[in-house]
Amino acid sequence: MSALEILNVCKDFGSERVLKDVSLAIESGEFLILVGPSGCGKSTLMNAIAGLEPVTDGEILIAGEAVTWKTPAERDIAMVFQSYALYPSMTVRQNISFGLEMRKVPRAEREAAVERVADLLQISHLLDRKPAQLSGGQRQRVAMGRALAREPKIYLFDEPLSNLDAKLRVDMRTEIKKLHQRLGTTIVYVTHDQIEAMTLADSIAVMRDGRILQLGTPDEVYNDPVDIFVAGFMGSPS
Ligand code: ADP
Ligand code: MG
Repeated sequence: MSALEILNVCKDFGSERVLKDVSLAIESGEFLILVGPSGCGKSTLMNAIAGLEPVTDGEILIAGEAVTWKTPAERDIAMVFQSYALYPSMTVRQNISFGLEMRKVPRAEREAAVERVADLLQISHLLDRKPAQLSGGQRQRVAMGRALAREPKIYLFDEPLSNLDAKLRVDMRTEIKKLHQRLGTTIVYVTHDQIEAMTLADSIAVMRDGRILQLGTPDEVYNDPVDIFVAGFMGSPS
């Protein structure tokens, strides 16, 4: 059974079809990277998986169970977006444990979860600060910590590093890779950075104009692109 299945999903905004019959299966523990040019529908697909936008047609299954009409909270998914919306009036500790509080996780468990992710992300020394007292990279770690505190079935990352400077981006990339190796989590990760895609992915899905053009290992997509668009986008040798 796949961790996540997307079956013939279509999404319309008004008269515009933004997702056109998208199908994907992601196995448990797999790191899938979704790439494609701006406006091709990557975020729309992520929002559909998360339940933030209803689909027009098709089905979404998590661990074999249809969640197409379930709320985001019922889907056991955690998301990290490009604009990491931390609560400005809360400390880092409160930001990380807030989602657990909402889910009525007992205090002792919440505290243990905060300690665990703070240690993992090396932000233990920042727990009593407010977001305004953090650098961009530190804030992004907190946003990630908030997602990791929950141990959901699936993580969705939508261009989580694109607001960071180049050096931090490389550091965070390495950290995300280590996290995945350590925790064995299932991840769907959007980026338009080909190097990020090639270094992180178990598999890469290339999207264009609302469709998946190719799904394969980084090696397949890079060395055996299905068409000239994929070749150009991945920077394949000609
Ligand atoms: P990407 O993340 O790949 O850059 P998006 O999924 O954000 O692309 O957008 C895909 C298309 O859907 C774009 O043409 C965008 O303008 C349109 N779109 C996205 N969200 C909405 C919305 N809420 N209402 C109307 N159109 C939208
Ligand atoms: Mg997007």
